[in-house]
Amino acid sequence: MRTPARTLRHPLDLARAGLAPPDRLPELERVAARYAVAISPALAELIDPADPHDPIARQFVPDPAELAVAPEERSDPIGDDANSPVAGIVHRYPDRVLLKLVHVCPVYCRFCFRREMVGPHGRAALTRAEIAGALAYIRERPAIWEVILTGGDPLVLSARRLHEVMRELAAIEHVKIVRVHTRMPVAAPERVTREVVRALKVAGKATYVVLHVNHPRELTAAARAACARCIDRGVPMLSQSVLLRGVNDDAATLGALMRALVEARIKPYYLHHGDLAPGTAHLRTRIGEGQDLMRALRGRYSGLCQPTYVLDIPGGAGKVPIGPNYVSARDPAGAAVEVADPEGCLHTYP
Ligand code: SF4
Repeated sequence: MRTPARTLRHPLDLARAGLAPPDRLPELERVAARYAVAISPALAELIDPADPHDPIARQFVPDPAELAVAPEERSDPIGDDANSPVAGIVHRYPDRVLLKLVHVCPVYCRFCFRREMVGPHGRAALTRAEIAGALAYIRERPAIWEVILTGGDPLVLSARRLHEVMRELAAIEHVKIVRVHTRMPVAAPERVTREVVRALKVAGKATYVVLHVNHPRELTAAARAACARCIDRGVPMLSQSVLLRGVNDDAATLGALMRALVEARIKPYYLHHGDLAPGTAHLRTRIGEGQDLMRALRGRYSGLCQPTYVLDIPGGAGKVPIGPNYVSARDPAGAAVEVADPEGCLHTYP
């Protein structure tokens, strides 16, 4: 397809670009009225309109299936609001907080766990007074070692605004790590400028950028160059991916994604099990399927290519690794345990 000049934000734009069937426009308009739609030129270009199962389209083109909300799905699946003591802060674990500065993104993922909060009609960006309140909350709590900028995508902010926030964080003695969660290097690599990277670096603190990426095709030459601009300037990168039905739920795709990340000097960090976000059942896998995929990765791919498969427990109880488990049972008496090798054969460890 021809690369669109602008981000596609309406079902009619998608139909005109050949990315949505015109006869389904009424349903897609209903989806778009509820959940934000945006496909950036860089990602639209990757979609093969002739492939009804295109893994990039599946992540970003709205689907009438989103209108069906399963009984177990919830608007705030991981309990952000229940753990938010002041505007913009989510404080779930003792040593770290989320700081959500904005609620807009360069693209809107159809499986987003914050889909009821993000988008042009979602929650507003923090005001200056709210940012001051959030920073005061962090300043007053010496146990906070790490601040995670998320949202929305914090890299939608200008380099100047980002640097202001980074400077404020740098002035807090007990904050040692700033982690930035973003999809920008794949969604709009041209926006990861040298100025943005410079803004992320502050003296005396370590900044990590965590890239959200789900399919190896997203790691285009431009995306890899954007990541290299971070890494070459001393900002290490990790990745997080969501396990998605029809996108990356096979060992070959998942393995190719992890290898492409490692080759780009990005350490695979998390593979998230899909959250119970409303209207996303068609994209979720079963936990057993995810464990089988992790077993396949462990057997066939370098240790560098192994993310941790995690579940955010619904309601906000926290994020935990969900296997697979290679040790058969814990033995409190200290006797032998059985350990499975990557092929599934059992061995006794005395
Ligand atoms: S980039 Fe992140 S916050 Fe934004 S829509 Fe995608 S998953 Fe949600």
